[in-house]
Amino acid sequence: MIHSLTIQVTPEEEADEQRLKSLIAEKLALSTDSITGIKKLKRSIDARSRTIKIQIHAEVYVGEAPLRQEYRFDAPSVADAQTVLIVGAGPAGLFAALRLIEGGFKPVILERGKDVKARRRDLAAINREHIVNPDSNYCFGEGGAGTYSDGKLYTRSTKRGDVKKVLELLVAHGASDDILVEAHPHIGTNKLPQIIVNIRERIINAGGEVHFNTRVTDFLIRNNSIQGVVAADGREFLGADVILATGHSARDIFEILAAKNVRLEAKSFAMGLRIEHPQALIDTMQYRSTVRNVLLPSAAYSWVEQVGGRGVFSFCMCPGGIVAPCATASGEVVTNGWSPSKRNNPYANSGVVVAINAPDDLQPFSQYGALAGLKFQQQLEHMAFEAGGRAQSAPAQRMVDFVQGILSPTLPATSYQPGIVSAPLHELLPPLIGESLQEAFRALSKKMKPYFTNEAVLHGVESRTSSPVRIPRDPVRLEHPDVRGLYPCAEGAGFAGGIVSAAIDGQKCAEAIIAKKS
Ligand SMILES: Cc1cc2nc3c(=O)[nH]c(=O)nc-3n(C[C@H](O)[C@H](O)[C@H](O)COP(=O)(O)OP(=O)(O)OC[C@H]3O[C@@H](n4cnc5c(N)ncnc54)[C@H](O)[C@@H]3O)c2cc1C
Repeated sequence: MIHSLTIQVTPEEEADEQRLKSLIAEKLALSTDSITGIKKLKRSIDARSRTIKIQIHAEVYVGEAPLRQEYRFDAPSVADAQTVLIVGAGPAGLFAALRLIEGGFKPVILERGKDVKARRRDLAAINREHIVNPDSNYCFGEGGAGTYSDGKLYTRSTKRGDVKKVLELLVAHGASDDILVEAHPHIGTNKLPQIIVNIRERIINAGGEVHFNTRVTDFLIRNNSIQGVVAADGREFLGADVILATGHSARDIFEILAAKNVRLEAKSFAMGLRIEHPQALIDTMQYRSTVRNVLLPSAAYSWVEQVGGRGVFSFCMCPGGIVAPCATASGEVVTNGWSPSKRNNPYANSGVVVAINAPDDLQPFSQYGALAGLKFQQQLEHMAFEAGGRAQSAPAQRMVDFVQGILSPTLPATSYQPGIVSAPLHELLPPLIGESLQEAFRALSKKMKPYFTNEAVLHGVESRTSSPVRIPRDPVRLEHPDVRGLYPCAEGAGFAGGIVSAAIDGQKCAEAIIAKKS
């Protein structure tokens, strides 16, 4: 017999298996001995009151053992099947490929970057030598922008598709099945690469192809239909269906499409800075205790403020994480963040960003048409490069100094490996961003007191929160309205933000192709 229950326990009660069992038995009016298994279905931490509770939703088994669910991916060989070209091996491209295999199509992935292992050397070069390889960096390469990330898997886009299926596929390729249970699942930079390798092997073993070091530089379009793509080395890859999943940083792709008069649209996005606090300070603030209970994870936070009707918010928070240099070209500085699976670094970082609303906020760049937001991003990233000393060092300022308009005479330690340089970010940022952030921080100083501190350091700039360009598509067929067979996909096309929503959009584009042929 299987009982279903929801119970709140302390972290100590949860950690002690026998104690948890007896509490569950008590709640279900059963004897402890009669319980033959407990399977957690959902787990969340409730830190709203001083006594922190773990909420568990579980199936409780009596007289039978819980079935261990195997998450498998079974598919026929597609080596001789019809080809679908996929540009980009990020979450969207990889999940599109898996779905195409299930639907009996052969995915051929073209990826400008290197495989995950080779990519590591290029990340080290950015951190240590300040050299940015424009094809292999924190955004480009196998697994896309999500490979060396915190690997947060929660999404607000539950309406967009089947989140559970994405998580189950990740488990089938090596992720811990905890991600199916945790309310805020994450994987971590140390675990993500192997999962990506497993997905790649699955695609190749099923008869698909993955081509690294293959940057797409042109699209073959005839009579308003796509015929294939051209790579930087001149190779042509032919196919009547192309999923374009190149992410928000593939500026060359937007420029190539604009030059070919393929319709694009300017899109709203957000830009700002990346803030870093000591993790202990965030733990104290969230758990209301000076020392974090070892049974609790590094605490996270999120906030949203309205400043004159404009959204200012925290973005992609990484507890126990590292601020990462995410430029994709030289002459720019871009920050983001990652965490290992244990989230055990002594720092907490997060984007702190301001909504940039198209078209109004993009007026000064209007001569660039649909690329106006992209030019605004580039200008900000170039400012950070100049202010940081013309390398990958980031311009930085303490939080209170930033609000008070004071150049920080000293800076605290940072996790940002290329280093930080004191700079007057309050003057360097456009008022739209700088003043909105100052106003939001003033408001936070009243609501989240410990958060507003000169122990926190702001790094410039957080500019790649989402794509500043939309590549339009038909809402049902998902093809570009003017180019048959071209499927603008996921984050780069403006239809996703984050690993899970990008994966879901990849699946959706694959399904549109499968539906067209059936
Ligand atoms: C440091 C960092 C941390 C992040 N942390 C998280 C997180 O914790 N949780 C979360 O949900 N999201 C996170 N994100 C965002 C997340 O990674 C993206 O939302 C997601 O990867 C988007 O998926 P995508 O497939 O649409 O594009 P991408 O992942 O950007 O993949 C696009 C791929 O296309 C390739 N490409 C680009 N141009 C070309 C070309 N011309 N030819 C061939 N290939 C090309 C790129 O090399 C890349 O591999 C993070 C991002 C970064 C940079």
